[in-house]
Amino acid sequence: MAVQSRRPQIVHSPNYDARPIAVRFLVIHYTAVDRTRTLQIFADPARKVAAHLVIDGDGSLDECVPCWDGVALRAWHAGQSRWSAGDDRWETLNDTSIGVELVNFNGNVLDFTDAQYETLAQVIRHLAGQYPALRAADSLLGHEQVAGFRGKADPGWCFDWPRVFAACYPDQPAPVRLPVCPPALRAALARFVEIAPDAAPAANAFWERVSLLTETAVALAVSDGHMAPSHLKMIDLPITKPDRA
Ligand SMILES: [Zn+2]
Repeated sequence: MAVQSRRPQIVHSPNYDARPIAVRFLVIHYTAVDRTRTLQIFADPARKVAAHLVIDGDGSLDECVPCWDGVALRAWHAGQSRWSAGDDRWETLNDTSIGVELVNFNGNVLDFTDAQYETLAQVIRHLAGQYPALRAADSLLGHEQVAGFRGKADPGWCFDWPRVFAACYPDQPAPVRLPVCPPALRAALARFVEIAPDAAPAANAFWERVSLLTETAVALAVSDGHMAPSHLKMIDLPITKPDRA
C-alpha cells in the first residue's frame, strides 16, 4: 500500500538564512520540551535556533523553515558541527543539512513513539525524492554524531536507528550511529523521570534544564577523555568559532 506523505503545517520561524543550501544530510534531534514550547522557541529571534521540521509524539508535522517543496533554506539547528566520510569532511552542517526535531523531553531515557517513527519515515522518503543525496543511508545523522564533542546528545539512546534504516533504506547496509551519553549519565538521567513535573509549563522548564545538564556532562566527559566513541575520535578538525546553536 502506498503511503500518502502528508504536507506539514507551516509555522514560521525567523531563525534561518534566506539562501538555499545544497542538501547532503538529514540531522535528527530531540526537542527537550513539548511541541508548543518548541514552536515558541523557534519563533523567538533571540533564541537564534530552528529546525526545518518538527514531529510531535502524535506524528503531526510542522515546517518551521522551508525544505518540503525542494528548496531548503539554511536553518540554524546544528551549530558548530563536523562530520567525515572517507576523504570528505564537512563543518557547520547547517550549510548542508535539513534538521528534523522529534518532540521528546530527553531521548536518552524516554522512548520515541510509533507515530513519530512513521512520520519520520514518510518525511525521509518525501525528502529523498526532492534531494538525491538523501537516497543514501549514510546521509542520516544525529546531532550527537556531528556535535557530540560539545555535548550535544540527541537523539540519544532511545532512538531506534536500525528501525529507521530498515524502514527507509532496506536495501543498504545500516550505518552505525552510537549514542554519546555515557551509560552512567544515562542512569542518572533516568532518575529525573521519576521526579519530573507532569504538565507544562513546569515540565518544559524542568526538562530544558535537564537538557543543559546533559549537554554539560557529556561535554565534560568528552573533554576529559572518559569517553571517546570511535566516531568522535576519527574526526580531527580544528575547532572554529562558535556558530549559532
Ligand atoms: Zn539537537
